[in-house]
Amino acid sequence: MLKPPLLKELSQIVGQANVFTDAEELVVYSYDATRVSSLPSAVVRPSSAQEVSDILRLANREQIPVVPRGAGTGMSGGSVPLQGGLVLSFERMNRILEIDEANRMAVVEPGVITGDLQRAVEARGLFYPPDPASQQFCTLGGNIAECAGGLRAVKYGVTRDYVLGLEVVLPTGEIIRTGSRTLKNVAGYDLTRLIVGSEGTLGVVTKIVLRLLSLPESVRTLAAFFPDVGSAAHAITAILSGKVVPRALELIDEGSLAAAGNYLKQDIAGGARAMVLAEVDGASQTTEREIAVVEQACREAGANSVTRAEEQADRDRLWKIRRSISPALYTIKPRKRSEDIVVPPARIPDILAQIQVIAKRHGLTIVNFGHAGDGNIHVNILLEDEEQSAAKLAEQEILAAVLGMQGSISGEHGIGFSKADYLPMETGAAALEAMKKIKRALDPNNILNPGKIFINAE
Ligand SMILES: Cc1cc2nc3c(=O)[nH]c(=O)nc-3n(C[C@H](O)[C@H](O)[C@H](O)COP(=O)(O)OP(=O)(O)OC[C@H]3O[C@@H](n4cnc5c(N)ncnc54)[C@H](O)[C@@H]3O)c2cc1C
Repeated sequence: MLKPPLLKELSQIVGQANVFTDAEELVVYSYDATRVSSLPSAVVRPSSAQEVSDILRLANREQIPVVPRGAGTGMSGGSVPLQGGLVLSFERMNRILEIDEANRMAVVEPGVITGDLQRAVEARGLFYPPDPASQQFCTLGGNIAECAGGLRAVKYGVTRDYVLGLEVVLPTGEIIRTGSRTLKNVAGYDLTRLIVGSEGTLGVVTKIVLRLLSLPESVRTLAAFFPDVGSAAHAITAILSGKVVPRALELIDEGSLAAAGNYLKQDIAGGARAMVLAEVDGASQTTEREIAVVEQACREAGANSVTRAEEQADRDRLWKIRRSISPALYTIKPRKRSEDIVVPPARIPDILAQIQVIAKRHGLTIVNFGHAGDGNIHVNILLEDEEQSAAKLAEQEILAAVLGMQGSISGEHGIGFSKADYLPMETGAAALEAMKKIKRALDPNNILNPGKIFINAE
């Protein structure tokens, strides 16, 4: 509970209508896609960097935790106010400030929905490639903080590859600008890259300068169905070792296909046990040739059938299947454990085989889907309450196997609190301490999103 004088000060900064303390309002800001919930003391909705700065100065003075929040779609608990305090919500900072066609750039506030920016730039023949499967409801501020990936990362990279500059309010209240409106910039340390992926622990992003590309002339999509996940995984590695770089290359296993089919009330697989979704883009003649190469690689790897999406409606139908998997799995097992592992792409068949062995050893159901083209698989341990300890052991073994293949415990969902236990396994003690030193230097009172990334930042 915040004392009335503090609430009054907050109201003076953002206006009384933008400070919420009623229980039913606080609940809405208490959880994210991990479904872990913790109530804040208050929610504040700033409208400018100056207001954010004033809030952070107050929070420092009073030692109150502050948790930035976009749309709350995070999968690692980043926006859950674990220690109470203030939630800083960016619903009012949701303007696309500029689309600069000559320089192929956009300037946006953090609360802009990713899909809204994509539609706005596409209307002008431009292209913002990062496309998390949550793009219709997540925010660009959340994408920056998590360095979100997405379906097109295999060809176009992730959020960090499109951030040219930022306006950031440091935990102690200073407003800084990082980067510039240029493609090149080597002036000093790269603070832009430090903030991107820092999960709202080092600074609050209040403005974003994004790089844009030209909208590709043509896109072609196919779905290939396989008798087993191993042959689908081999199709992925065969495609990647060829000359074609698809813009998306997704793998969906039997359990994920069944879940999506049940959720969408349609028979997706027709008896197949794995599906590969591939998409190429570029000039029309090139995409026609490239999609044929991808189809051939799938058939050679053992695909029973291949469907090409000829019309936009067919493409939308295929991608709807992919995007429905995550919500579909939640409806089956709300308490599932979700991993976001990434391995060098050529190791995809090895890690999938390894996961099957681990699942069998612990008697667990584990389903896998995701961005196999860039090595990033979402591993879902579907469990009952009594399987919690077996699931924990399986999780440890899967993450150890990933690190043994020189991969990472998180490709795009971040560490948050849900993977904080495991971060030292990947970084080692010295790198972890270097990260904590940065945190302590920028946030000496540990007020900004405490309990995230590090169990203890001391
Ligand atoms: C169905 C579904 C599919 C998904 N698919 C993908 C996918 O394909 N790829 C992917 O990468 N992720 C995916 N995600 C995860 C999630 O959508 C992303 O992590 C997204 O970037 C979170 O954005 P958000 O606006 O919801 O942020 P939130 O969940 O609200 O916050 C995420 C983090 O960002 C911080 N933050 C938010 N705004 C700011 C700010 N202005 N300044 C500083 N820190 C801030 C928060 O403190 C928190 O640590 C998916 C999630 C769901 C539910």
